[in-house]
Amino acid sequence: MLMSLRHKMPEQTPDERRKNFKEVTLGYTADIAKAEADRCLQCKTAPCRQGCPVEVNIPAFIKHLREDRPDQAVAEIKQKNNLPAVCGRVCPQEHQCEKLCVLAKKGQPVAIGRLERFAADYGLSCDCEPREVGAEPLGKVAIIGAGPAGLTAAGDLACLGYDVTVFEALHEPGGVLMYGIPEFRLPKSIVRKEIDGLKQLGVTIEVNAIAGKTFTIDELFEEEGFEAVFIGTGAGLPHFMDIPGENLNGVYSANEFLTRVNLMKAYQFPQSGTPVHIGKNVAVVGAGNVAMDSARTALRLGAENVYIVYRRSEAEIPARAEELEHAKEEGVQFHLLTAPVRIMGSEKGWVSGLECIRMELGEPDKSGRRRPIPVEGSEYTLDVDAVVMAIGQGPNPLVQHTTPGLEVNKNGNIIANEAGFTSKEGVFAGGDIVTGAATVILAMGAGKKAAVAIHQFLQEKHAVKE
Ligand SMILES: Cc1cc2nc3c(=O)[nH]c(=O)nc-3n(C[C@H](O)[C@H](O)[C@H](O)COP(=O)(O)OP(=O)(O)OC[C@H]3O[C@@H](n4cnc5c(N)ncnc54)[C@H](O)[C@@H]3O)c2cc1C
Ligand code: SF4
Repeated sequence: MLMSLRHKMPEQTPDERRKNFKEVTLGYTADIAKAEADRCLQCKTAPCRQGCPVEVNIPAFIKHLREDRPDQAVAEIKQKNNLPAVCGRVCPQEHQCEKLCVLAKKGQPVAIGRLERFAADYGLSCDCEPREVGAEPLGKVAIIGAGPAGLTAAGDLACLGYDVTVFEALHEPGGVLMYGIPEFRLPKSIVRKEIDGLKQLGVTIEVNAIAGKTFTIDELFEEEGFEAVFIGTGAGLPHFMDIPGENLNGVYSANEFLTRVNLMKAYQFPQSGTPVHIGKNVAVVGAGNVAMDSARTALRLGAENVYIVYRRSEAEIPARAEELEHAKEEGVQFHLLTAPVRIMGSEKGWVSGLECIRMELGEPDKSGRRRPIPVEGSEYTLDVDAVVMAIGQGPNPLVQHTTPGLEVNKNGNIIANEAGFTSKEGVFAGGDIVTGAATVILAMGAGKKAAVAIHQFLQEKHAVKE
């Protein structure tokens, strides 16, 4: 049993999928899911649970699957996780629950993420009953930002009995799940269905509502009667490298590139009305999930050569293992230990090349990773028509600038404690806006903690009034 291999995920072949935007992985069948669930040892101490930031009872939901109760499996997961079909697809399980699975020590861990996805998809297909919510609202809470942090806080607060309104700047809720992560990795229909589940719990979502512009946080308290506000505005402000040529046509931030393609459907141009020009050869700078998504999107848009340009080695690549593997299989080419120096342009102002320099790794830096050092005289040029910068994102400053009394750190992130309390009374925050760009499940974990803190805060406030 210990050495048994985890069951493979059925997926489109690389040749097939690099030409379409349909989901790459097809999901376990019921038979495969049962066989994989049978691998679980049902450990009493369940170390896997300690690796889950929202503390899903993993052995319990797996037990339901092995005993043919997928409806109860999804109900068990939903006790802790409002977006399991999303998490089953995009969580970096290899660094979380699966890393701590006892089977990982001697063989391959239980495929917890794939089982979670199977159960969650079953739940979506059978339209299981929403969780029960109290009849009388306990108070009004506003959530700013409909990403994983805000949606999770909203769901948990609605279940506790609050009247919750989510204000979202874009025309669709979901945050990065809608505008960042591509369709071939996370179908938008899945995100919409999980968000519908939150609406069934009574959560109201107002789109095209920009905090700091359409209204301010203070107005929500003073004019709209909200008693607490949770800010989950994410990290949507792209970073650039500050190298020559970044203002040329054909240079994109990954955010802009992916938003044009995912949210504005540039891959369906001209039916969609949003063009995206990439030419034949594309360089993507960076090697996180955002970079892999950009590179694989460029391939699907028809680029002949797509290069990942990354200044460290493969061992330091931060993307999920599965995304890296899929990118390689699809033909993305890797220029590792390489840094861009300058973007070259044509007379008409379009990108024509990317000058790079080779790097070697020196002593570890503050992050604990070995510092990349340029190798003198090793410059070379990649002929490219477009460059996508995927080197990280920072916080959008709008809410911070328009909310007096809200403290931020030197990077512009809102300062909040573990529970989500900020420096301003009644205002809570969590997710990427506090931590800087991180993961879906960490943002969800922050949303959950903040929901608990908001509940306590309002209960105490009401008790004092009485
Ligand atoms: C391309 C890409 C791929 C990724 N892949 C993965 C992955 O595979 N696995 C993983 O775990 N993580 C991944 N991440 C990271 C993950 O998506 C984020 O950590 C997570 O979405 C953060 O959630 P959040 O709720 O804090 O913010 P977001 O998801 O950014 O949501 C914030 C929301 O707030 C809205 N907003 C912003 N300002 C305002 C305002 N003033 N008023 C109203 N609304 C506002 C935004 O429009 C947005 O909808 C990826 C990120 C990107 C960009
Ligand atoms: S650690 Fe692994 S084997 Fe043990 S209960 Fe968790 S998933 Fe099952």
